[in-house]
Amino acid sequence: METKAFQAESKKLLDMMIHSIYTHKEIFLRELISNASDAIDKLYFRSLTDDSVGLNKGDFFIRLDLNKTDRTITITDNGIGMTAEELEHNLGTIASSGSLKFKTDNKLDADQQIIGQFGVGFYSAFMVAKRVTVYSRAFGEEQAYKWQSEGVEGYTIEEADSMSDLTKHGTKIILELAEDSDEENYSEFLEDFRIQHLVKKYSDYIRFPVQMEITHRKLREGTQDEYDLEVNLETLNSMTPLWRKNRSELTEDDYHNFYQEKFNDYMPPMAYKHVHNEGAVSYDALLYIPSKAPFDYYTRDYEKGLQLYANGVLIMEKCADLLPDYYSFVKGLVDSEDLSLNISREMLQHDRQLKLIAKSIEKTIHNELIRILNNDREKYEKFFDAFGTQIKYGICSDYGMHKDELQDLLLFTSSKEDKLVTLSEYVERMPEDQKDIYYAAGNTLEQIKALPQTEAVLAKGYEILYFPIPVDEFAVKNMMTFKDKNFKSVTAADLDLNTEEEKKALEEKSQENKSLFETMQKALEGKVERVALSSRLKSHPVCLTSEGDLTLEMEKTLNAMPTDTKVQAKLVLELNPEHPVFEKLSALDQETDSEKIQKYAKLLYNQALLMENMPIENPAEFSSLICELM
Ligand code: ADP
Repeated sequence: METKAFQAESKKLLDMMIHSIYTHKEIFLRELISNASDAIDKLYFRSLTDDSVGLNKGDFFIRLDLNKTDRTITITDNGIGMTAEELEHNLGTIASSGSLKFKTDNKLDADQQIIGQFGVGFYSAFMVAKRVTVYSRAFGEEQAYKWQSEGVEGYTIEEADSMSDLTKHGTKIILELAEDSDEENYSEFLEDFRIQHLVKKYSDYIRFPVQMEITHRKLREGTQDEYDLEVNLETLNSMTPLWRKNRSELTEDDYHNFYQEKFNDYMPPMAYKHVHNEGAVSYDALLYIPSKAPFDYYTRDYEKGLQLYANGVLIMEKCADLLPDYYSFVKGLVDSEDLSLNISREMLQHDRQLKLIAKSIEKTIHNELIRILNNDREKYEKFFDAFGTQIKYGICSDYGMHKDELQDLLLFTSSKEDKLVTLSEYVERMPEDQKDIYYAAGNTLEQIKALPQTEAVLAKGYEILYFPIPVDEFAVKNMMTFKDKNFKSVTAADLDLNTEEEKKALEEKSQENKSLFETMQKALEGKVERVALSSRLKSHPVCLTSEGDLTLEMEKTLNAMPTDTKVQAKLVLELNPEHPVFEKLSALDQETDSEKIQKYAKLLYNQALLMENMPIENPAEFSSLICELM
C-alpha cells in the first residue's frame, strides 16, 4: 500500500509532538474527546433541522476503551465521521498553514506555543502513541476507511470493512501507547482511575456522555474475602456545560482549564467573567481576556467572535457581531434561550435579541476592565501592554464615535516618574496655570525624551505624555478633548507658554531680525512656512514645530501609508535667541551676507529634521555644506 507523506508543516509539527518535552502529555485525551464532541455537535445540529437524520440527543455518545494487553486506548464517537477525502485533508495537513513560521528559539516555549495556539488537537495523540489508527465512516456514506500512521514517515489510507461494533457512523481512534521509559510512564493511561480523573478534569462539561466500562470488585455474598468483578458502563462526565453551573460551584481552575481547552491557549487567561443575565434578554456567558495577544492578533488573519449557543446547541463557532472590534481580543461564549436554532447567519445580523446581548456584553467587558484598572493596576498594565493598541485603534475608528466608551481605559507613559498614567490622573494633577494636556510624539521613548521641544514644557513643571507609536497621536486627535482640556503637541507652533513680558521681548527681537528670517525663509521655500524666534529652546539652537492640526509625526505616518495622496505639515523653523548660533546668524545679517545665511538655513533645517528622526532630503548636499562652512 502506498504511504503518503504529510504536508511539510504537519510533518514538522508531528516531529515536535513526538519529541515533545511538553509536560502535559495528558492533554491528548481532552483534545480527542473535544474533536469527538465537535463531530457529534455537527450531526446533532443537523438532526435538529433535518428529520431524515433520525437521531435524538440521547443517541449520541463518546466511548473510551482501555486494553492493557494490547496497550491501547480507543476513543469512539458516533458523530458526523469523515470521508476518505476528509481523512486525507483533515489529518494529513494543518489547516492554518503558515502558522509554524514563528520563533523557535526556546524549545519548551515553542512546544507550548504550538500545542497551545494552533489547534494541533489530533496530532497530540503522537505525544503518547507510537501508532495511531483511525477508522471513520461519514454519516450517510456506505464506505468506511482506515487511516494509519506511525509518525513523520507518513500515513496510509485504505477501505475498511466496518468502522466499529458500537456504531455505523462516526470515528474510532486507536492509540497504541509508546513503551515506558525512565522519563515517561505511558502505562498510567491504561488505568481506569487515571482516565476517569482526566475526563473530570478537562472534559466534564462535554455535553454528550463520555462512557467507559469500569470494573468494580464486589464482595461475594456470604463470604469474607471472595470478590466478584462487575463491569458497568459508566458516564464519566457531568455533561452540564460549565456556563450553566453556579459560580459558587466552580473554582478558578475550572474556568482556566475550560478556557485553555476550548480556546487552545497554553497559558491561563488574565481574567474571566461568568455572566448569568436575566432581563430584557436572558443569556449565560463566559468571557475571557487572554494573557497574551495571539501571534496573529494584529494581522488580517485574526478572526474575532464569541461562540454562540442557542439553548445549549452550538450554532456558530465565531459570532463576530457579539464583539466590537476594540474588544476583539475577548474569547468566550454566549448561550441564550431567546435565540432560534434555525436562524441563518444573515438573519442573525439583524436579530434584535442578539443586538441586546452584544450591547450587554460590551458593557460587561468595559466594567470588568475598569474594575481591574482600579483594583489591580499591575494586571491592568499587563493587559494594556497586550491589547492597549487595539483600544487606541478603537478610539480612532468611526470618527471617534467610541471615545466616551474607551477614553477611561487608556494609559500613556508620562514624563512624571516615567510611569503609565490614565488621562484622569494626568488632569487631576495638572498645576492650576496649565491649560492643555501636553504630549510629545516620536519613534521611541528615548528619542521623544531627547526632543528639544520638551524642554520648555518640562521647565514650566508640566507633565508630558509620551506617544511612541503613531496611533497614540491619532487617538487624541480623534478625541479632541478630555474633560474639556485640549491635547497639545509640544511641537505645536502656538504652544503659548510665555508670560506677557516674555512675549513682548521676543516680539521686539523678532522685529529687529526681520530681514534675517526673510532670507532664511527664501532658502527653505516649500519646506517651512516661516522662520521665527522661540523661547521653548534651552540647549538646542533650532527645532521644527507645526501649525494647524497636522504634526510632523502624523505627516510621517500618513505618508508611509500605501495611498497616492501625500500630506504636508505646516512647519515653522524656530531659532533659539540665546544660542551662539543665533548670534552668528544675526552678525551675518548685519554684514548682509545672504548667501552664507541661506547655507546656514539649510544646515539648521536639516539638523532639526534629524532631531525629529526624519530623513533629510539630500544627505550629500548636507555633508558638503558642513564641510564648506567648517
Ligand atoms: P481542530 O480540531 O483544531 O480543527 P484537529 O487536528 O484536532 O484540529 O482536527 C482536524 C480536523 O479533523 C477537525 O477539524 C475535524 O474536521 C477532523 N476531525 C478530527 N477528529 C474528528 C472526529 N472524531 N470526527 C470527525 N472529524 C474529526
